[in-house]
Amino acid sequence: MKKTIKEIADWLNIKVLENFSEVIVTGVSIDTRTISSGDLFIPFRGESVNGHKFVEQAFEKGAAASLWLEDEPNPPKDRPILFVKDAEEALQQMARAYRTEHKAKFIGVTGSNGKTSSKDILASMLSPFYKVQKTIGNFNNQLGLPITILSLDEDTDIAVLEMGMSGFGEIEFLSKLARPHFAVITNIGEAHMQDLGSREGIAKAKFEIVQGLEERGALFYDGDEPLLQNLVAGNTKLLSKAFGFQETNDLIGSNIETTEKGSCFTVSGELNGEFFIPVLGKHQVKNALNAMLVGKEIGLSAEQIRDGLAQVTLTDMRMQLVPTEKGILFINDAYNAAPTSMTAAIQFVQSTPLREDRWLVLGDMLELGENEKQFHEQIANDINETEISKVCLYGPRMKWLYEKLKNKFSLENIFYTENDYDAIVQYINEHASERSLILLKGSRGMKLETILKSFK
Ligand code: ATP
Ligand code: MG
Repeated sequence: MKKTIKEIADWLNIKVLENFSEVIVTGVSIDTRTISSGDLFIPFRGESVNGHKFVEQAFEKGAAASLWLEDEPNPPKDRPILFVKDAEEALQQMARAYRTEHKAKFIGVTGSNGKTSSKDILASMLSPFYKVQKTIGNFNNQLGLPITILSLDEDTDIAVLEMGMSGFGEIEFLSKLARPHFAVITNIGEAHMQDLGSREGIAKAKFEIVQGLEERGALFYDGDEPLLQNLVAGNTKLLSKAFGFQETNDLIGSNIETTEKGSCFTVSGELNGEFFIPVLGKHQVKNALNAMLVGKEIGLSAEQIRDGLAQVTLTDMRMQLVPTEKGILFINDAYNAAPTSMTAAIQFVQSTPLREDRWLVLGDMLELGENEKQFHEQIANDINETEISKVCLYGPRMKWLYEKLKNKFSLENIFYTENDYDAIVQYINEHASERSLILLKGSRGMKLETILKSFK
């Protein structure tokens, strides 16, 4: 962005000193370690750290201006300071104002799994044809979303925004802030069960995204999910399209074929023909389907969608193929795990013709609430011992799965450790070969990608 301090003060309904009013602000930052010259620094006052301590440092590093809480003593003199009551509210207010005047089409992406993947696929697919910006990393909450909006260039055509949540009301808040022209619900899983009680609760919480839709905006949703079908049916005014693998959807995917380069698939309905995406997994094909529907709605031709999809790249650690010197092929899906995405990844490994010696290296799924034991045990039902040759389980919760599985596999084919990466590395070194395909998957906190360091 490019705004004078005067303009920003107007957004916030506050006054600034005359002599600084023409200073130009080109972005916002909440962290002096990553601040860029021209940024507006936003100090937060937390329990352990008071961001005001870093304001001077922010200016030394080139900040154009800084916010300052009204009740914080000793503001710097002779600096462009904007006094506010609440830093978070000020950040959100600025984002709301910038969003209102921005000409871009806004796309909001939520769902239990596949937000970041869908965001990356969408942005990558649209990039050859438009100037696209997207949420960096996982900046998808009440701070990350406004920061993302404020980082948009003025000439950006399309903004792809990830919206995350852990409880009711959060997606409504984010959606009303970003006012998307297009909203996507990737799927409904079990993530955040702890806070939302049930899958119905989760579906309702994601569906809040429609509350912030622009006038004549449209929802694209996982039509294979009955909970979402019901919510859509109960909302007769909503413009919506469904994607998925069932015949009832507006865009239907079928005939997925996997190679070491990616997935070929057929679509019918709103678009027709064969498409390719350089990404693995049926669930990623589903994410591609939502991107295709949005692309079509934005005005891309089928040909452009085909070209765009073929150029897609994903953020690391999402079904990422990692070849190694020894010839072992890893699938690094260690970014995160919840039951739905765990099942999806296991099904992919079991059905892929990529390699014949197929392994699962699985780590704990965190934040599942009181039924966590059951969720871990149920994964046993997904694992087909005729398709999988070895299973390594890592973490205290995976002990539950180990107990369920240990009779299905012979002793040398199943391995459990509570917290020892090296033991897994050693097990892999002893048993894996150039015929092996090894899935790494667990919650972020389990850091299963650590294992890969030993195989480069
Ligand atoms: P987070 O809530 O952590 O931001 P996210 O919704 O952004 O997660 P991704 O990071 O894209 O999701 O993917 C998380 C995991 O879910 C990955 O392991 C990925 O392979 C899997 N996944 C991606 N898309 C889907 C989908 N549509 N259905 C089920 N699993 C999926
Ligand atoms: Mg994400």
